[in-house]
Amino acid sequence: MIAPQKKLSFEFFPTRTPEGRAKQIITRKQLSQYNPEFFSCTSGAGGSTKEGTMQAITDILNEGIAAAPHLPCIGETPEEIKELLNTYKDMGVRHIVALRGDIPSGVGVGMSGLRYANELVELIKNEYGDYFHIEVAAYPEYHPQSRSAEDDLNNFVRKAKAGADSAITQYFYNPDAYFRFVDDVQGRGVDIPIIPGIMPIASFSKLARFSDTCGAEIPRWLRLKLQSYADDTASIKALALDVVTEMCERLLREGAPSLHFYTLNQAGLV
Ligand code: FAD
Repeated sequence: MIAPQKKLSFEFFPTRTPEGRAKQIITRKQLSQYNPEFFSCTSGAGGSTKEGTMQAITDILNEGIAAAPHLPCIGETPEEIKELLNTYKDMGVRHIVALRGDIPSGVGVGMSGLRYANELVELIKNEYGDYFHIEVAAYPEYHPQSRSAEDDLNNFVRKAKAGADSAITQYFYNPDAYFRFVDDVQGRGVDIPIIPGIMPIASFSKLARFSDTCGAEIPRWLRLKLQSYADDTASIKALALDVVTEMCERLLREGAPSLHFYTLNQAGLV
């Protein structure tokens, strides 16, 4: 049972078809029984999913839940960002997940655009004051492009000091990395809530591929055990459910402020 003051939030990605959208609305209805703090929706850097994200955010607001659009800034000019933020403000959005983003290959990036998430946080603070709650990304196992762990921590601190209100982490399966990260950040004078991002495991091969690119580690024992189940998806799900549930319980017990679930647009495992 989750203590009443610990809130949950759930992340979705934009859908491409009317069927996908209808299914996502049902998924959100199932998850809304957990009284979420907000539902967020990802957005492709370079504007690749702008319409889909806008549709999902509109749907979420119509469902009466707080909506948090992800806003990747890389390559966007300040004017383009402000236009989008003004639209969100007019829609009643109060919560933004402010990101650098990763440019998909083949998508061009303007040279005059923003480069790092701290620049986006500064822009939002300067233009909108405290109107938006600004969420940023955190990497307990460090960002894959960072020069060093220290450098990445300092960059995170810079982002927080620019005005972020809280952070959501990249997923991890090693809670010690999370607790160490929180301690290190607090040791640098930053005390914003750092919310663990939780990725349930439905398929080992997909997770392994994705983890390689985003720099999240699947601990050796877990990887080998999941691998040994091969195509036995029932066993993979049962073990993963056990491991991830225990991790969530420990995180909440030992001080995580709340949990943010990467739903992959599915309610079942979450
Ligand atoms: P930053 O904080 O800018 O950091 C990026 C890298 O640059 C790091 O290595 C950092 O150490 C370094 N750095 C930071 N600031 C500076 C600086 N001022 N000078 C020099 N180096 C610096 N991606 C999407 O495209 N769409 C999404 O919707 C999306 N949602 C996400 C949600 C969450 C919760 C998380 C954790 C990630 C999400 N991502 C998303 C992925 C994210 O965009 C990538 O991980 C991206 O590579 C980094 O984004 P960031 O905001 O953390 O970048």
